[in-house]
Amino acid sequence: MNLFIMPHPPLAIEQIGQGKEIAAKATVEAMNRIAEKVKSLAPKTIAVITPHGNVFSDGLCINIEDKLSGSFVEFGQPRIQMELNGDFQKALVLCSGLRASGINCLALDAVTAKKYEISTELDHGAMVPLYFILGQYKDFRLLHINIGYLPKTQMYQAGKILAEIMGDGNVIIASGDLSHRLNKEAEDYDEMGAAYDGAIVGMVKDNNFLSILSLDENMVQKAGQCAQKPMEMLIGAMDGYSAQAQVYSYEAPYGVGYMTAHIECTYEDKEHLISQYLQIKKDIDEKNKVREDEYIRLARKAINTFVEKREKIDVPGDASEELCINQAGVFVTIKREGRLRGCIGTMAPTKASIAEEIIDNAIQAAAKDSRFTEVQSEELDELEISVDVLSHLEEVTSRDQLDINKYGIVVTKDYRRGLLLPNLSGVKDVDNQIEIALEKAGIAKDDEYKIQRFYVERHEIENGMEKAY
Ligand SMILES: [Zn+2]
Repeated sequence: MNLFIMPHPPLAIEQIGQGKEIAAKATVEAMNRIAEKVKSLAPKTIAVITPHGNVFSDGLCINIEDKLSGSFVEFGQPRIQMELNGDFQKALVLCSGLRASGINCLALDAVTAKKYEISTELDHGAMVPLYFILGQYKDFRLLHINIGYLPKTQMYQAGKILAEIMGDGNVIIASGDLSHRLNKEAEDYDEMGAAYDGAIVGMVKDNNFLSILSLDENMVQKAGQCAQKPMEMLIGAMDGYSAQAQVYSYEAPYGVGYMTAHIECTYEDKEHLISQYLQIKKDIDEKNKVREDEYIRLARKAINTFVEKREKIDVPGDASEELCINQAGVFVTIKREGRLRGCIGTMAPTKASIAEEIIDNAIQAAAKDSRFTEVQSEELDELEISVDVLSHLEEVTSRDQLDINKYGIVVTKDYRRGLLLPNLSGVKDVDNQIEIALEKAGIAKDDEYKIQRFYVERHEIENGMEKAY
């Protein structure tokens, strides 16, 4: 079985790049080299795993149409079009295989597309790699797979099911760009970007796919990439195989990292990476749990008991005075694999003690955050929990008194209020902080409103997944 990792810069296509493609010369050459390799393999079916089609947070989306088409109209080139035969039989088998394993998936055809108000057209994540392949080889059916933001274990399992359906003679491509935050002058620059790209390229070169699964989620999120989820599924496809990778190219011509790689897989009934990953993760989670302080432990206990027994715990008899006597507003934030899973809090004390405030908000965050489904018992071991204890609110008369890293803010107009915690990723500056808070409150920018600031005492454990390798 042959797997490829390919980026998807539309600018690498000459008619779109209009000269800019020259900067991505190594990528273009490597894409053509992959196309030649694919031609020599002559697969009947090519599966493309893309991060830019119809991407859902809770499931994969598989195109089951028998004709698949798309164009580069979004990139100013409506005349570059493609129409391919879809491998709808494999697509249907994949959908039922996923569902049988408890993985959500949407079988996309014209009818379901209409229902969800989405399109069946191919996305650029699939079309850029296909454009290069079609330049050399056309005699294949396409299996178009849109990733979902599912937990790693499910993406891995989905890849394993895909490999079984594809069989050895076929080709699977994971489409994805590495960091988009490499440009030091750009506003969204993040030093984690280059660190991520370096780590990924090195790990692929070393056939160290276990480490890609085990990468620190903070780094993965901060890198601003679109390759991680497609790669998780691709790594699942290697389950039981011995994998030999070759990186064809890496470069970052437009401040975005592009890697091309070929991974040749031979079936050997090898040890399964996922069980090794789960063991690493379990060890780290256990170590982290030991490091948790009283605040986090209390929130975790409240969440576990509520999810397992639907009961609210009492304040433990051995809780410290600090927790039992003081009152404050509290925010409880729950994450899973670095992604927000629930966050609920109170701006000012509503209970007799911080301990009670934590218990209540922890349960709310796990079960009542309307943006998410309720936390399930099988997720409990994997939750990362942090607790923010808020100071009193202070009036702010000038923007100089604000600092996005130090202070959270509350904006108020009449009964409308919006709160933003300090030190959040994605908040650029004070103006941006106020803007987001206003939006949350439903207050117009040019309305008159009051700003208050507060600081928080944050109780959290830094994710320690990077210690895995
Ligand atoms: Zn992308």
